[in-house]
Amino acid sequence: MATDEIIDINLVSKDGGDYCVRCPHCKQIIGIEGDDLSEIRGEQYQHRKCGGWMQIGWNARFVKELPAISSKATN
Ligand SMILES: [Zn+2]
Repeated sequence: MATDEIIDINLVSKDGGDYCVRCPHCKQIIGIEGDDLSEIRGEQYQHRKCGGWMQIGWNARFVKELPAISSKATN
């Protein structure tokens, strides 16, 4: 289960035209709604699957691809 802590997101990418981030709670990549980076910065999202909350950081950077999880990947 996710904690109810709101975790800042620093990296944002795009997948098929939609923004996506890696959920800091369960490490899955999830799509988020928003038209451009300035719109999603500061926004809070809840990952429906794990219930975890996150906030897109004001300094969040756009990257072409979200980095793979370090060696501790679960899948
Ligand atoms: Zn999650």
